[in-house]
Amino acid sequence: MQINGKAVEACSGKFFDVINPATGELIDRVPRGTGDDAAIAVEAASLASGSWASTSPQQRARVFYRAVEIVRQRLNALAVLLTQEQGKPLIEAKNEIEGFANVLEYYCGLASSPQGDFIQVPQNGYAISVKKPLGVCAAIIPWNMPALIMSWKIGPALISGNTLVLKPASNTPLTNLTLASILSEAGLPAGVLNVVTGPGELVGEALVKEHKVRKVSFTGECATGKRVAQLAVSGKKGVTLELGGSDPMLVCDDADLERAVSGALRGRFYNCGQTCTAVKRIYVFESIAEEFIKKLEDSVRKLRVGNGMGENIDMGPLNNRRQWEYVKELVAEIEEKDEGRIITGGKVPADSACCRGYFFEPTLIVDVPRESRLLKEEVFGPVLPVVRVKDLDEAIEEANNTIYGLGASIWTKNIDRAVSGCEQLKAGIIWINQHLKVAPEVPFGGVKESGIGRENGPYALSEYLDIKTIMLKI
Ligand code: NAD
Repeated sequence: MQINGKAVEACSGKFFDVINPATGELIDRVPRGTGDDAAIAVEAASLASGSWASTSPQQRARVFYRAVEIVRQRLNALAVLLTQEQGKPLIEAKNEIEGFANVLEYYCGLASSPQGDFIQVPQNGYAISVKKPLGVCAAIIPWNMPALIMSWKIGPALISGNTLVLKPASNTPLTNLTLASILSEAGLPAGVLNVVTGPGELVGEALVKEHKVRKVSFTGECATGKRVAQLAVSGKKGVTLELGGSDPMLVCDDADLERAVSGALRGRFYNCGQTCTAVKRIYVFESIAEEFIKKLEDSVRKLRVGNGMGENIDMGPLNNRRQWEYVKELVAEIEEKDEGRIITGGKVPADSACCRGYFFEPTLIVDVPRESRLLKEEVFGPVLPVVRVKDLDEAIEEANNTIYGLGASIWTKNIDRAVSGCEQLKAGIIWINQHLKVAPEVPFGGVKESGIGRENGPYALSEYLDIKTIMLKI
């Protein structure tokens, strides 16, 4: 456990291993926290809460600025750590660490933004609404983008005067612990940010149940999100849920095919397909399907798979055994049931350098039937199904035929089609002629089973503030 960057040895005494998914080697061991550890961290956050809330926004921003500077100075070392525990290629790890710094820097700019309103009340004087920090917040995060998602939680929470307890995923706690230490080094007072490592069912649930925690921000699977939401609601706490997605990519017959192919490639295989807003299904117009699929196949075949620390690697391993087994089993089932044609990939690479890690070939499957699991489930791995459709209406109907509603993209040069896609696609974020791009300024989140609430942008601040209304009679 870490309370504001300092390791606390008083944890339950047990540890768990953090394994490099590319090599199977042990990287480090971290404390296997318990519910009691979560309670200690919440108490620390509660004790720090009053004084942090009363610091000026400028003081808070100064801490963030210093942390951003340190993170940028140590970018390479942090990226190496992230690649080692998560598996992504070093270049992607650098992007993610840079993303962490960018998000914190963005919230520095919002630190002093107006918080509240003046309201004229007819015949009754006026009212002022002021926004106050909630107090102690909890954040529970996954392993796919641990640094970036950490920044999406701590950025708005801390800059608006809250304190926070973070529960990292057990596969990727090291980058989170190191980033928390950097914030401490940058001057964040003790207790403002606390990290408790350990199993979700113990530490995560204990945090959500703690009565002093006023807000829970969760990112992870839909099923876990439901459990977290139930506990949070019964404890009358605010909750933000960023859950799974099965983003469709709609390729119209007037799309720039080169651009669409590179968008599909990056959209699906970035981070080994383990991105919530990855392109998880492609619907392409029949009239251009052959040409598009051929170009896509050529590009997928060129992807270089290997240890993310290696040079010129495009795709690393999956992050963990559970995910790896899921992808292998799913593709085996598709082959067995003859649900589509695998035109490239579909197996564990034969390359001996990959034999100890959780590698899987970048896989392209065409002519996938509508009822296939590939189109119904969130496939968190490097498998890309392509479906032919006759026109935009059919593409939109199929795209919306899912429980998820995180992202979607439409690829066309026709403004009417683009607008029609934006209006009709049921998703929290819609891209036109791109996919995957996120930015600290832009609200992010899903509809339907993909979640509740938004992160990023000024809106995210309101998720961490209470409104107090003051009415004055003249
Ligand atoms: P997960 O739900 O298994 O775990 C997420 C976190 O919850 C981990 O820290 C875990 O330890 C903790 N946890 C597990 N059980 C818990 C419980 N009962 N109570 C409280 N906490 C518990 O998800 P994962 O496998 O780590 O992450 C992959 C999922 O995350 C995918 O579905 C992906 O789409 C989603 N995701 C969503 C977004 C988004 O912004 N919408 C971003 C990234 C990832």
